[in-house]
Amino acid sequence: MIILVLNCGSSSIKYQLIDTMQEIAVEKGVIERLDAGKFRQPLEELLGQFKDYKIDAVGHRVVHGGSQFYDARQINDEVSAAIRNCIPLAPLHNPANLAGIEAAQQLLPDLPQVAVFDTAFHARLPDKSATYAIDKELADSHGIRRYGFHGTSHAHVMEMTARFLGRPANELRLISCHLGNGASVCAIEFGHSVDTSMGMTPMEGLVMGTRAGDIDAGVVLKLARQLGIDAAEELLNRKSGLAGISGIGKDLRDIEQQAAAGNERARLAIAVFAQRVRKYIGAYAAEMGGVDAVILTGGIGQNSVQMRQRILQRFEFMGLSTNEDLNLDAQVSHEHPVVDISRPQARVRSLVVACNEELYIAKETERVVKGAHKVSQPGPIPIAVSARHAHLNQTALEALFGPGHQLTVLKNISQPGQYAAKECISLIGPRGRIDKVRILGPLRKETQVEISRSDEFKLGVDAPIRDSGNVRDSAPIVLEGPAGRLELSEGLICARRHIHMSPQDAAAYGVKDKDEVEVAIEGGPRDLVFGDVLVRVKDTYVLEMHIDTDEANAAELDGGMSGDLIYKDAPAGIHAALRERHVRD
Ligand code: ADP
Repeated sequence: MIILVLNCGSSSIKYQLIDTMQEIAVEKGVIERLDAGKFRQPLEELLGQFKDYKIDAVGHRVVHGGSQFYDARQINDEVSAAIRNCIPLAPLHNPANLAGIEAAQQLLPDLPQVAVFDTAFHARLPDKSATYAIDKELADSHGIRRYGFHGTSHAHVMEMTARFLGRPANELRLISCHLGNGASVCAIEFGHSVDTSMGMTPMEGLVMGTRAGDIDAGVVLKLARQLGIDAAEELLNRKSGLAGISGIGKDLRDIEQQAAAGNERARLAIAVFAQRVRKYIGAYAAEMGGVDAVILTGGIGQNSVQMRQRILQRFEFMGLSTNEDLNLDAQVSHEHPVVDISRPQARVRSLVVACNEELYIAKETERVVKGAHKVSQPGPIPIAVSARHAHLNQTALEALFGPGHQLTVLKNISQPGQYAAKECISLIGPRGRIDKVRILGPLRKETQVEISRSDEFKLGVDAPIRDSGNVRDSAPIVLEGPAGRLELSEGLICARRHIHMSPQDAAAYGVKDKDEVEVAIEGGPRDLVFGDVLVRVKDTYVLEMHIDTDEANAAELDGGMSGDLIYKDAPAGIHAALRERHVRD
């Protein structure tokens, strides 16, 4: 497809015409010095130059989609209204984005227009990452929370990294550092943004070209008192960061030159910038309990050899070490958008990745447009509620029940060959214990204990959300059986909600193993759409969605219920109605 990507700022239009098949921009440029919001005429002139191309759709970069859009959307009146509602959160950007959308709609009324949000990738941040520690009611009523930005960049480099490493994104833990004039870091755990350094606004986090990033709130209050609100805002947004510390300007090239010539403020600016990035890499590695690759992108990440070296040094303790020659030579290009600068033995890869937000916007636009034409005919999916349970391996079974012990079948459960055993164990956490936890057989290679969020609180543990079988670096737990105790250093998880399917079911639903889908629960007292539902396909699986007791309670589900699968990229027909309703709610 040929997609026109528009990024409308307050006085400029950045555009690219992208061939999504070849993943290249056939035309690109910037129209500058425009009157705020007056985009119709310049856009008309631009389209005049593109007469020879058959444009299929327009993708608009939209800065703020609030917390409701976790995906790109075809623009209709409702989506436009939602973008307008977010103006207070992005007063400079969203009005310009809307003006661009309106101009494009007027000039290209027959083409689908799609909004791709900077915030979407972060829209499902866990509450513990999104929440600021202030009065909860006040925060909720004023929409004060972490939204995060640069989502298109972080999502794009995640996809490029997965492609480069030859592994699906939902098996990887990544730390993406977008270092340009604006800068942010994102912790990406198995395909999802789980924390990011920009907050309610783009002012939080890293040191940037002209923004201070993290700063004691007391300093902000003091500046506001002494200088007045507007001057304080101007100072923190436009006169701080690299420019503020160095006194040279925001361009790192100039600062590096002066630093080499002995300028102390230039050296300090570089040191503070690098230290802040290092701090976030350490923090996010800790939050995710491990990391597979650290990604550097953006103008600074892609080009500054010196800054990369400063950021990535002395991380050997966590398995990351770079090769200086590779760092020196690293140059990303269209042919090589990812360059690995790690030493061969490094457990954690250091990657330089080309930032290409426009390509991501074009691909998302294509996905939405194609999805809109897909006709979906899914039948309902039966839902089973999994109470907390444990899968044991031979060693664990013998430690808990004595040597030579064998499990006794209590009853068979829905997936063929699986059974609930008569045996139960206790879970012991730092805060409390839970008895009578059922063991599910047969034995497995690795011991895995699955609990709900409420159980987590009872035990006083922090269990990561994981696909079944993926227990590396998960939480520790103590198990107790009649013959003894077993201290597991890992194995405790909150299971990701998932659907078991046979290959035939998968074909019928048009999904494949490891896809993520949504499932709508309708007709009960508390309708709900479950997002991030993992599809698991195997010959022996019987069609069934598994959720835990907390999730079932949230939707007030009891036995015999079922849900409707909603295609991630098919806002068509009845499922579009469900989806749109979910968006409004
Ligand atoms: P934006 O956030 O505006 O898109 P970019 O991603 O283009 O910004 O990054 C701009 C930053 O990249 C500037 O600070 C610039 O100094 C820096 N940069 C670009 N090339 C180099 C280079 N060769 N060495 C050091 N810094 C560079």
